[in-house]
Amino acid sequence: MVAIPDQASFDYIIVGAGSAGCVLANRLTASGRHRVLLLEAGGHDRRIWIHIPLGYGKLFADPSVNWLYTTEPEPELNNRRVIQPRGKVLGGSSSINGLLYVRGQAEDYDHWRQLGNAGWAFADVLPYFRRAEDQERGADALHGVGGHLKVSDVCEPHPLCEAFIAAAQDSGFPRNDDFNGPSQEGVGYFQLTSRNGRRWSTAVGYLKEARRRPNLAIATDALTTRVLFSGRRATGVEYRQYGTTRTARANGEVILCGGAFNSPQLLQLSGLGPEKILRELGIAVVADMPGVGADLQDHLQIRMQYRCTEPITMNDVINSWRHRYAAGLRYIVSRKGLLTIGAGYAGAFLRTRPDLATPDVQLHFLIFSADAAGATLHPFPGFIVSVCQLRPESRGFVRIKSSDPTVPPAIQPRYLTARADRDVVVDGLKQMRGIMDKPAMRRYIAEERAPGPHCQSDADLLAYARDTGTTVYHPTSTCRMGDDPNAVVDARLRVRGFERLRVIDASIMPTLVSGNTNAAAVMIGEKGADMVLEDASTAPRT
Ligand SMILES: Cc1cc2nc3c(=O)[nH]c(=O)nc-3n(C[C@H](O)[C@H](O)[C@H](O)COP(=O)(O)OP(=O)(O)OC[C@H]3O[C@@H](n4cnc5c(N)ncnc54)[C@H](O)[C@@H]3O)c2cc1C
Repeated sequence: MVAIPDQASFDYIIVGAGSAGCVLANRLTASGRHRVLLLEAGGHDRRIWIHIPLGYGKLFADPSVNWLYTTEPEPELNNRRVIQPRGKVLGGSSSINGLLYVRGQAEDYDHWRQLGNAGWAFADVLPYFRRAEDQERGADALHGVGGHLKVSDVCEPHPLCEAFIAAAQDSGFPRNDDFNGPSQEGVGYFQLTSRNGRRWSTAVGYLKEARRRPNLAIATDALTTRVLFSGRRATGVEYRQYGTTRTARANGEVILCGGAFNSPQLLQLSGLGPEKILRELGIAVVADMPGVGADLQDHLQIRMQYRCTEPITMNDVINSWRHRYAAGLRYIVSRKGLLTIGAGYAGAFLRTRPDLATPDVQLHFLIFSADAAGATLHPFPGFIVSVCQLRPESRGFVRIKSSDPTVPPAIQPRYLTARADRDVVVDGLKQMRGIMDKPAMRRYIAEERAPGPHCQSDADLLAYARDTGTTVYHPTSTCRMGDDPNAVVDARLRVRGFERLRVIDASIMPTLVSGNTNAAAVMIGEKGADMVLEDASTAPRT
């Protein structure tokens, strides 16, 4: 525990030690010229299950590392509340996520540029992906080595994944051994943010190196409750640590890296947000900004469950003490085997219509089955395939419900409210079933447990999506970058209309990328750090 004196001054205050925040903490302290305070609401990343990739399943419901949010009742999902885990620990969500390393499509970033965000086309962000990366396969035009984020192959093929890949190929989809290569389309194995069988969070990759530097102060269990202003200039923050409220001053900038739920929450608590909501809660309005917390986007996934004909799934390992013991021993001795796998083993990026330019759905293939994420595995051999629409058109929001910073905000993704989203989900489920019906896969299927054979028509499939759809944990865009009136930050990630205040995390994405969002959040941290340092070299200090 580090106790920072009240009223202490720093050049930069970073709120949130997550995927992006740890990158910033490293980059801003590297020269030794700037004093930086990193405030993290959660604690240290000491739990062993954080570092063993398979431990991911154990962190879903662990309040010691997870904010454990849920959505409001979702109108298009039969008013169900959907879980929304978020990391509350050094490393943030990169310490509890599924480890899959998928950047999205080049077209996603070119689209950001088309929306008016200079400097965010794929050609502009690629150098930051490469700088961040330490690619196990070596460097090429699209990949880097020597970076702080280690990216590795899944250690060994699995017969079920091989069958899935063969079945997808039989359905006409190409094999793809690199979803971050020249084309994302096709079927293959995922790469993970891990090395030698250990998770590579940004706390491990970036913070571990930086924390030895005397110009970085890290305060854990420190919930930032308010940004402080002098007029339209951010001057510091107020935070609570172990029951005491303190302030910290920023001579340079306050940088919010709290993620897609907490960054807009903190701005709203600080008086930046939709005026009516703030007034109703008795919060002094600093700026009426309807865009703060608006435009929430997330990937919805629909899972199909299968009973397997052979005892070769993870269920069979976990449900037998002998196999469990053998898997544990193998991991200890060689850092290989089932304990090294992430949230997906194999996967696919497919176009639901041939006239589309790029894939619009992602499939995750998992070699275990359970009724819900993080739930006990079935007592029989089983596996799961899920479909998720990559570029949802539905838009939701994050809004505070109280002026008390410890009360979770209302989270409402409004999944499936756009007609296009419902259509793509149904088409994706049909395509997935087509793959599962190919001989290579069929020999492993004893039964489609869910939704089951009664579910045939488009209406049945949509009803199944409404009954069971859940998040893939990719909320973004609640402090969206842009130059329209609802945009929260400009293309240099500065909060519009304010000085010395930035948001640098997944919340700034103008639109959700067609992949898994950790790589993009790290890239945003890398690029954001350069922007902060470039502006520091020109801005006068007070
Ligand atoms: C269960 C799960 C599985 C996922 N699987 C994958 C995957 O396989 N691949 C992938 O690419 N992506 C995955 N993601 C998504 C990815 O991890 C996130 O998009 C990414 O980590 C977001 O980074 P961020 O910097 O925006 O926020 P985060 O990493 O969430 O960091 C925010 C940090 O800020 C802290 N914080 C928030 N508010 C405050 C406050 N007021 N005061 C102080 N600290 C605060 C939080 O505690 C947290 O540490 C997954 C996410 C989850 C939750």
